[in-house]
Amino acid sequence: MNADPDCIFCKIVAGQIPAKKVFEDEELIAFHDIHPWAPVHVLIIPRVHIASLADVVPDHDALLGRLLGLAPRLMKQLGVHNGFRTVVNTGRDGGQEVQHLHMHVLGGPRPWLRG
Ligand code: AMP
Ligand code: ZN
Repeated sequence: MNADPDCIFCKIVAGQIPAKKVFEDEELIAFHDIHPWAPVHVLIIPRVHIASLADVVPDHDALLGRLLGLAPRLMKQLGVHNGFRTVVNTGRDGGQEVQHLHMHVLGGPRPWLRG
């Protein structure tokens, strides 16, 4: 399945709900988290609906590599020069609330609200 009509991040991909986008290309979108835990808090997601990191298959390896590699570029672009944190919550025990694969990228001066 390429998109899930009930998935909030698929709706962002489709432009059906707004997001403060900081990056997009043919495979990935990045946007500011609506409830930031840190001065800079963005989410990087694939356009394709993959429910979680537990659902990836070897065909996704290149996509995952690009997703991770985008984080340092975005942090530079957003003025984060003192390190950042990447988080992928997976499944119920992993605390995942939105069932569309996403990576949190958090940066900026501490203290942070969370993380
Ligand atoms: P997780 O617990 O890893 O599934 O995190 C989901 C994240 O998505 C949370 O940090 C939410 O604040 C964020 N979020 C949910 N809905 C939206 C939205 N419409 N736009 C931006 N971020 C969102
Ligand atoms: Zn989705």
